[in-house]
Amino acid sequence: GGRAARPEAREGARGAFDVERVRAEFPILARPVRGKPLAYLDSAATAQKPRAVIDAVRRYYEEDNANVHRGVHLLSERATRLYDGARVKVARFLGASDPHEVVFVRGTTEAVNLVAQTFGRQRVGPGDEILVTELEHHSNIVPWQLLCQEKGATLRAAPVSDAGDLDVEALDRMIGPRTRLVAVAHVSNALGTVNPVAEIVARAHAKGVPVLVDGAQAVPHLAVDLPALGADFYAFSGHKLYGPTGIGVLWGRKALLDALPPWQGGGDMILSVSFEKTTFNAVPHRFEAGTPNIAGAVGLAAAIDWLSAVGLEAAAAHEDALIAHALDALREVPGIRLIGTPRRRAGVISFLPGDVHPHDAGTILDRHGVAVRAGHHCAQPLMRRMGVAATVRASFAAYSTRADVDALVRGLHAVREVFA
Ligand code: PLP
Repeated sequence: GGRAARPEAREGARGAFDVERVRAEFPILARPVRGKPLAYLDSAATAQKPRAVIDAVRRYYEEDNANVHRGVHLLSERATRLYDGARVKVARFLGASDPHEVVFVRGTTEAVNLVAQTFGRQRVGPGDEILVTELEHHSNIVPWQLLCQEKGATLRAAPVSDAGDLDVEALDRMIGPRTRLVAVAHVSNALGTVNPVAEIVARAHAKGVPVLVDGAQAVPHLAVDLPALGADFYAFSGHKLYGPTGIGVLWGRKALLDALPPWQGGGDMILSVSFEKTTFNAVPHRFEAGTPNIAGAVGLAAAIDWLSAVGLEAAAAHEDALIAHALDALREVPGIRLIGTPRRRAGVISFLPGDVHPHDAGTILDRHGVAVRAGHHCAQPLMRRMGVAATVRASFAAYSTRADVDALVRGLHAVREVFA
């Protein structure tokens, strides 16, 4: 039976995942903050970087730096090989078979804007609709709002429950004959809700509507398998995946990308240029105008290698256990009110520290070396839906520990004392 096997399985997982060994790979985590050990609980904003990533970027600049796709010389060949290799690595990481479906961008925000301004401009007209959800980050709302204003289209939002779960039945009912795209977060950055993306995609596809998934908060915690999800576009940011800032990914179905017009114009995105007619390069280069973030791609590839070596699923199991512990510990702190109790959660806990404003609590926590985010988390419509202006958000990564949670709890008791 499964029951008897469980403790052993847990032992095995513990043996395989050694959080202290993981932590030791992050130089910044040894840095004291305000004279206290750092309890970094803001990984949903940006993850810290393991030495493997920092070294890969430095090594690239020290040994291989050149521009890509142009030089005939050795270093340019090496830089090109590294950049193209990073694309292959990202495709494999997402379970995609064709690296040409991977477009390098600055991050999730740029990926969504790219789709809005190519797919959206081509396919959305007056009276059409884009369907998002109430739990989106602003970067999966505002690009669609701008598009809808330009085109005379309408932006609609599928509702979430009081618990912070997406109402998939309601979303389904909102997909109509004028819906041109469903754009949905895989994981909510503000509540941690994991959306049933495969089910959402199945329902949208049943009505012939493509789906864009904002995977910014998903890729660090869930093994993404694009064929199983079925999505048409998938976006994420390198910096939330232990990689550098300024590099991100838009994955799109090849046939869909092939049919899209170019976005930004410039070098590398063309095959030939004359003043009469420019012929555009093939996908993905058509969407990568100008010198790309080569070092960023190299760092992202190193981050993917690093996470694969640690084991994404082992890290996620560690985080889930820690989140369960943190939820129990927070329930013991008088006055704490959890915001959002989703059926499935990844990476994030949001709460109100009694009557204290989240910003004040965040400032006091900082004095104790505890780094959290306090505010609306770029998800103001969701905050409104949950009936709050702001929350304190503690977010977790592979390197998070019980000691971080203990520091948070101690800090919250100090917050109570200050405001008593
Ligand atoms: N979408 C979600 C769910 C996020 O959490 C974030 C991060 O802030 C973004 C989009 C935007 O990501 P970036 O700022 O890296 O473009």
